[in-house]
Amino acid sequence: IIDELVVNPSFNEGDIQSILEDLRNENYTGPLSEYLFAAARFVREPHYGHKVFLRGLIEFTNYCKNDCYYCGIRRSNSKATRYRLSLEDILLCCKIGYNNGLRTFVLQGGEDMYFTTSRVVDIVSAIKKNYPDCAITLSIGEKDLADYKAYFKAGADRFLLRHETADYSHYAKLHPAEMNFAHRMQCLQELKDIGFQVGAGMMIGSPYQTMNNLITDLKFLSNFKPHMIGMGPFIPHNQTPFKDRLAGSVPLTLVILSLVRLLLPKVLLPATTALATLSENGTIKGLEAGANVIMPNISPIDIRNLYTLYNNKKITGGESLEGINKLKDMLNAHGYQAVATRGDSLI
Ligand code: SAM
Repeated sequence: IIDELVVNPSFNEGDIQSILEDLRNENYTGPLSEYLFAAARFVREPHYGHKVFLRGLIEFTNYCKNDCYYCGIRRSNSKATRYRLSLEDILLCCKIGYNNGLRTFVLQGGEDMYFTTSRVVDIVSAIKKNYPDCAITLSIGEKDLADYKAYFKAGADRFLLRHETADYSHYAKLHPAEMNFAHRMQCLQELKDIGFQVGAGMMIGSPYQTMNNLITDLKFLSNFKPHMIGMGPFIPHNQTPFKDRLAGSVPLTLVILSLVRLLLPKVLLPATTALATLSENGTIKGLEAGANVIMPNISPIDIRNLYTLYNNKKITGGESLEGINKLKDMLNAHGYQAVATRGDSLI
């Protein structure tokens, strides 16, 4: 089945189910998993080789109107210390990132009503004016069509909105009733129709997730064909309703990364911070399973610990030349090279 996927990257439910069962029989760590990772690297090779795109992640607000059961910055977490970055703070992050060779800035935050459409437009316009050769990615949740259009017009290039799960009943177990699966899917379609490079994705091992849910996710991703797919293990946060849940499995996350690479060979696929948090060598393991993007955190150091989605978040140092150089050295030592280009989607 793996060989077949290399030749013909198309989703077949029975095949995916069968391979996942075989992989589970070896706890996602045996020779079949290794073969799957090698196949993922093989199909990545003609498009990206061993080049890795770096994205400077700016976590610009941890205020959120939503109450997702899994997330540490949910509105009901009264223990969270809330912060917002000013436009000047954000531009300073970009300056440091730019000087360290980053050419994509990802603005991520909770759904913070302070950041009205015009404020977001001002931020996007200012970054574009100062750094016209850079791409801007927004990751600010569900908005109206008119808002998305305004961001795009202002110069935003990409938008990350994980679908979280492609099964509506699973979605309802992860979110309160005020959040709606159909609307999330509608947003993803609207973003694509506007012309954004769009990112979807899900947590691996989120509470109540079944193997069938993951297969449904793979089916959705393979049909929707996002330009980017963000996937990492679920990690509990101790001030959420899911505080006593088990974290997702690193080996299963790696296997799903590889399957996504096989199904969508050109997709932009990050080795996420959540993966690096749960596994000592998580970033390299992610690349070895087919990922080709890393998102070093370039938020100001004093607020980094406040953007806490889950426990023990790893701080990936992008703030200083030293931090970025260390990351580049680590990549080189494993045969990868960081590239200082925008790294747009090939699709
Ligand atoms: N508010 C925006 C949105 O909804 O897309 C962006 C910020 S949101 C915090 C970014 C992503 O963090 C979510 O899509 C979710 O998958 C991930 N996340 C939240 N809590 C998590 C947890 N406990 N473990 C792992 N990932 C988590």
